[in-house]
Amino acid sequence: MEGALTARDRVGIQDFVLLDSFTSETAFLDNLRKRFRENLIYTYIGTLLVSMNPYKDLEIYNLKQMELYMGVNFFELPPHLYALADNAYRTMLTEYNNHFILISGESGAGKTVASKKILQYYAVTCPSSDQLQSVRDRLLHSNPVLEAFGNAKTLRNDNSSRFGKYMDIQFDFKGEAVGGHILSYLLEKSRVVHQNHGERNFHIFYQLLSGGDDELLRWLGLERNAQKYCYLVQGECAKVSSINDKLDWRTVRKALSIISFGENDIEHLFGIIASVLHLGNIQYEGDGKSGNAMLSGNAELRWISKLLGVPLVALQEALTHRKIETSTEEVLSPLDVDQAYYARDALAKAIYGRTFTWLVKKINESLENQDATRKTVIGLLDIYGFEVFSINSFEQFCINYCNEKLQQLFIQLTLKSEQEEYDLEGIEWEPVQFFNNRIICDLVEQKHKGVISILDEECMRPGEATDLTFLDKMEEKIGNHPHFVTHRLGDQKTRKTMERMDFRLLHYAGEVTYCVIGFLDKNNDLLYRNLKEVMCQTRNSIIKVCFEFLELDNRKRPETVATQFKNSLMELIEILTSKEPSYVRCLKPNDAKQAGHFDDVLVRHQVKYLGLMEHLRVRRAGFAYRRRYEIFLQRYKPLCPATWPHWHGPPAQGVETLVKYIGYKPEEYKLGRTKIFIRHPKTLFATEDAFQI
Ligand code: ATP
Ligand code: MG
Repeated sequence: MEGALTARDRVGIQDFVLLDSFTSETAFLDNLRKRFRENLIYTYIGTLLVSMNPYKDLEIYNLKQMELYMGVNFFELPPHLYALADNAYRTMLTEYNNHFILISGESGAGKTVASKKILQYYAVTCPSSDQLQSVRDRLLHSNPVLEAFGNAKTLRNDNSSRFGKYMDIQFDFKGEAVGGHILSYLLEKSRVVHQNHGERNFHIFYQLLSGGDDELLRWLGLERNAQKYCYLVQGECAKVSSINDKLDWRTVRKALSIISFGENDIEHLFGIIASVLHLGNIQYEGDGKSGNAMLSGNAELRWISKLLGVPLVALQEALTHRKIETSTEEVLSPLDVDQAYYARDALAKAIYGRTFTWLVKKINESLENQDATRKTVIGLLDIYGFEVFSINSFEQFCINYCNEKLQQLFIQLTLKSEQEEYDLEGIEWEPVQFFNNRIICDLVEQKHKGVISILDEECMRPGEATDLTFLDKMEEKIGNHPHFVTHRLGDQKTRKTMERMDFRLLHYAGEVTYCVIGFLDKNNDLLYRNLKEVMCQTRNSIIKVCFEFLELDNRKRPETVATQFKNSLMELIEILTSKEPSYVRCLKPNDAKQAGHFDDVLVRHQVKYLGLMEHLRVRRAGFAYRRRYEIFLQRYKPLCPATWPHWHGPPAQGVETLVKYIGYKPEEYKLGRTKIFIRHPKTLFATEDAFQI
């Protein structure tokens, strides 16, 4: 007994539900810390998995481990991502329903690593015929490609996802992975033209320069040295010790072939990447008299014209002029130097952003399963984590709003619906208080009075509205909201920490101060019409698809970036609510990306805002499993002579007879109106085991 106690003292408890002083945050943290010291990075709260980033490679993802977890009951082995993945998979197969695994946590907490480990687990452990081998390969290889184009080094994470990703893995009735589909969300395009100090552009640029062979670089007109490119030098950290661009280039190059990108596509794709770098090196000078922008040289222009297959003269004109349409005619108006740089950057962002969308589409085509038979899916959601920098802009606003929405979904599906269900089923229950972040979601997305609506309204007033008028409007319309404050509205203490152009939102995860500068531009995402026209003349097959002629005829005002994002998030929530959830909550131990260092304050903060204590309280007081009487009876009736082969009375009575016969103790279960509630998973697993024997 003493031995067991020592072990428990040393390695902590693997399910928080079993902690003695379960309500104390300190005990929670102690347990996390103990386990972290022992490299035990996974801990359960019931069926939710808490994961702590070890910042070092652990020997827990090998084939042996995978085989260990295959088909084993959830709580029989130490907590692991594989147990969670396996559980979703087995439930999908027996109940024939759809699942999703929501992986959340702040930037650098380990979401992307977790989603890759889960995908690998399925690729290795699911049955597969030879002919489906290629589907698995493509599923796996879509990751390095999307990461190359959509991830970048930030101050928080050397491989930070700068887009949101939801991936469905499709399975047939035998459990073979037969296809997949990816939805991507709002790529942070502004990174293409601007990076903060200590940050990089998207990986692919550095990979191409380090790994591309001499001949390729010559063909693209590129030099190997990243310092030569304005779009790559602003962060002053082209080289990162944890990243091997050359090796990654080879991986991406191989992956592109496996996902069946043709040589033609690949050539055009690199042509686009190179063109973006050339665009960034275009310099303007002002014409002495008029101040109109003129190109300082045309070497870059020639390369872009060659690589994108667009007429040089038209491109030159579009990079220095703007076409203005009046009711009767079109006039070309020269741009001044600032406007010309703006147009150049807008083109770079548009080209890159649209190419990314094309890439996702192309990957989806290769993952598509043509077979019309019914499939079930497991969706993996890996979206950029909550982030706070010293200066936060439109991108952080969107990212943090997205995290609010996912937190709201989590609350809906766990804390709220769980408690509502007890009420509905007439189960006695002591309600657990929790903070509902609905109020912040509303503050952002409400019609007319939400931040996005106010921003859109200002975007409808070109020429008159500015970032400052947007701020004024917010002060006017939502100034008294408890989760919103500005410099002008704040008390003395607040004023000291804010600038005039800032607004602050009190997010569920903490307060974030956003600087409004650039909000209108980024939300409008305007690309001058004549630049679009030039792109439509392209001979580059990818650019051709990205800039369709149709768009030019469309006089309707396109949706703003924030509204598009809001709508795509609503669709995502709808997709998710129709599926059975599993959760992985990722935590980061410190801000220095260091192995072995556990920062109490930082971890405590994450435990708090992720609502882990509330979740634990609900779990601890509640019931881990519930099944409708009919389903429970249908599955387990062979275990009791009175219910086998048929039970003729009401299903509820059948279940009562059944569980009494197999020896459930009264404290282990409760009978609701339509369902049986089982307190500990172990009880159900024992029944399941009896059933299997
Ligand atoms: P973001 O929101 O910025 O995309 P993220 O949550 O996706 O962040 P990851 O990219 O998954 O974070 O993890 C950041 C880094 O932490 C990884 O590159 C890796 O070095 C380390 N890491 C994360 N999880 C693990 C793990 N399970 N084992 C070892 N190292 C890990
Ligand atoms: Mg990530």
